[in-house]
Amino acid sequence: MPETQPHYEGRTVTVIGGGVAGMSAACALSEAGYRVQLIERRGYLGGRASSYRHPGVNEVIDNCQHVLFGCCTNLIGFYRLIGVESKIHWTTQMTMIEPGGRRSILGPSSLPAPLHGLPKLLSARAFTLADKISLARGFSAMMRPIPGDSNESLSNWLRRHGQTSGAIERFWRLVIASALNADLDAIAVPYAAKVIRELFMNSAQAGAMGMSSVPLSELYDGAAQFLKSKGAELHLNTNVESAEWDERVSQWTIYTRTATLVSEFLIIALPFEAMQKLLPHLPPAPHREELARQVDQFEHWPICSVHLWFDRQITDLPHAVLLDREIHWMYNKSVLQPWRKTKGSYLELVQSASRKFAALERQQAIDQALNELAEFFPTIREAKLEKTALVKEVRATFGVPPGIDGLRPPPASPWANCFLAGDWISTGWPSTMESAARSGHLAADVLCGSKIEDRRFLEPDLRARGLMRFLARS
Ligand SMILES: Cc1cc2nc3c(=O)[nH]c(=O)nc-3n(C[C@H](O)[C@H](O)[C@H](O)COP(=O)(O)OP(=O)(O)OC[C@H]3O[C@@H](n4cnc5c(N)ncnc54)[C@H](O)[C@@H]3O)c2cc1C
Repeated sequence: MPETQPHYEGRTVTVIGGGVAGMSAACALSEAGYRVQLIERRGYLGGRASSYRHPGVNEVIDNCQHVLFGCCTNLIGFYRLIGVESKIHWTTQMTMIEPGGRRSILGPSSLPAPLHGLPKLLSARAFTLADKISLARGFSAMMRPIPGDSNESLSNWLRRHGQTSGAIERFWRLVIASALNADLDAIAVPYAAKVIRELFMNSAQAGAMGMSSVPLSELYDGAAQFLKSKGAELHLNTNVESAEWDERVSQWTIYTRTATLVSEFLIIALPFEAMQKLLPHLPPAPHREELARQVDQFEHWPICSVHLWFDRQITDLPHAVLLDREIHWMYNKSVLQPWRKTKGSYLELVQSASRKFAALERQQAIDQALNELAEFFPTIREAKLEKTALVKEVRATFGVPPGIDGLRPPPASPWANCFLAGDWISTGWPSTMESAARSGHLAADVLCGSKIEDRRFLEPDLRARGLMRFLARS
């Protein structure tokens, strides 16, 4: 081992939770030479971003299409580390379709950022001239500094900035609120500004959209392989029930139904509701109750996905944004995942922030999705529907209403040698895989910083390009 490489032999870390947060922390620390024990309640890694063989259709499906963007530097860094970066299919174009089939394409041009998206926006037929002027005004207002503790909701902000109903319904609700997975009146303005700046203004690279060309579990199997290659232990199908800290020997003892593990460090990488359950079974500490009060105030938002197999090709578009209906996004899995060799086509439709849709009965939901889809792709009416699956994820993401930042805890926890990760901790990002990967890297950084090692796992943000280099400073 070269002399500059720190040697951590004997330092053990237990990571609870095998989602993106836990995996990214575990992989970073394994890479740095820690002995890692990763404990996951389910039989596979991935958490809320996973896939499984659906018994009703006998196909491996994702629990929902997950997309990432070029600005997701920590997630991409994690993929690079575990060797799956090449499995992401990237695109810079977003096709919007109106009922009836008329299309508009958003995407970058050769103009410098933040103007790169302007030519396509100006020629988009989905927006009237008044919508376009109001969007341009809205974008430039989003460039101005917005206090992080702003108590204003996005719906109020849009009213105050004179956004037209077309701009609100076809852009702010469909693209921004759906990226943040909440209603407009439950979104804090700084989070909307973050999405606007990252996806549409900083650079074409930051706004490029990535989708996995393999099922999510196959992607995250890369993490399992990586961890095994580093000698880490994976404890799957293992639910952590409690943990104790022994100050005398600086050691955590972690209790599951089947095993007891010990380690010097602990990273708890759970979603907020699992943290809520575990908290009473962690040792008393000065700020434990405060953390419990914070966690109590988080709120879930659902995402539903309808998976449809047809006997013929419906469209050659890999994906599209569907306007003015309850179904929001179409992903053409036959195109995105050609290895499936589907005879006809496999389409996945996603409904974000879909409390109303999530309340529908299975058949009602599928019928509504099909009827709406036929308005965009009339071929549906002649096609034979071969099989269907509906996935309702009621606890998909946490909301980002005004005031949420005051509730998101830092990675340092109320306990010694214990750190928090999970998409809901204080990362500045909404409930996404990037927030989860960032939280894992932050926890690993703080863990190392708590000793003397000089090691940074957090990936830097992408630099703004073009004119944004000067404008983004504000
Ligand atoms: C339907 C849906 C669509 C989404 N779409 C996108 C998208 O397009 N893009 C995007 O970036 N993000 C998307 N997300 C959000 C993204 O999936 C999450 O933000 C991210 O995966 C959270 O990772 P995490 O590690 O913080 O939490 P989780 O993935 O929830 O991982 C926590 C893990 O802890 C385990 N666990 C719980 N309790 C215990 C215990 N007591 N002992 C041991 N293990 C335990 C759980 O089984 C789980 O595996 C979507 C989420 C859903 C559900």
